[in-house]
Amino acid sequence: MQIVRRSDFIVTISLATFLSGATAVFMDRILGIAWLGLLVGCIVLFFGTRRSFSRWRATREKLPSDSVNWLDRHVPLYSSLGEEQQLRFERDVQIAMAELRFEGVAGSEVTDELKLAVAAGAALLLHGRPDWDLPRGHTILFYPRTFDEGYDIDTPGRFDGLINSQGPILLSVPAVIYGWQHEDGLNVVLHELAHLLDFQGSGHDGLPALLSPSSADAWRHLVREEIRKVKAGRSVLRPYAATNSAELFAVAVELFFEQPQRLKEGHEKLFSALVALFNLDPSQSSGERREDATTLQQVRAE
Ligand SMILES: [Zn+2]
Repeated sequence: MQIVRRSDFIVTISLATFLSGATAVFMDRILGIAWLGLLVGCIVLFFGTRRSFSRWRATREKLPSDSVNWLDRHVPLYSSLGEEQQLRFERDVQIAMAELRFEGVAGSEVTDELKLAVAAGAALLLHGRPDWDLPRGHTILFYPRTFDEGYDIDTPGRFDGLINSQGPILLSVPAVIYGWQHEDGLNVVLHELAHLLDFQGSGHDGLPALLSPSSADAWRHLVREEIRKVKAGRSVLRPYAATNSAELFAVAVELFFEQPQRLKEGHEKLFSALVALFNLDPSQSSGERREDATTLQQVRAE
């Protein structure tokens, strides 16, 4: 994530200059008040730089040490980075925490740790691609436990995570905590944020818009091949990945960041495709702990 995106800055300056000049000329001829052009230019600059300013404000102070310690304990890739890269990761966490909206549902308290747990997922997915951003406008809703299709929590539900293309991201608090405490390929935050990247572009189809267009056909072919492997029981991806191409992508992203070596050994082509997409190789730097997969009986995410 960048505080000032060069392309946005150039567009804003160009637009402000053009509208300011055009308004000044027009209003001078009509009413003799050329200064209105300056006002229009200032308004364009204000709205065009508002995001950069809020990002600068969110990152002007360092991430608190207890948050840094949390990252060190829960995000292997972060702990393996050099000082400069860690600072960039921390800055991305601060930006994500500032830009995402968080709400608790049914008595769930929105704690700093929960916000950090979601922001860390965003920083991890985007670390290799500093020019990427998560889509804006999504609210994170924390549920106290699993929920069903109607977002009801009165009885044990089917879901630990759920995302709507234009709506909020629903996360159960126990699953969020669990996801960062175990490196077993189950991380509901990474799963739902992977869907969020997938939503950009052509929709919920397992084909991230950020993928190079020239790679789209090869990606589709690879995903179909991997779904066949899952259905045949020849995959390290959990069975839910066979649901469709979008779920294959989201489940693969979880394993890519949590157990990269395992994914690399079992699915070299898929692993290489994800390395190319995210522009980083977690197997080289994560210091992955090969702990036994602790099964969470009911981690389900859509
Ligand atoms: Zn899913």
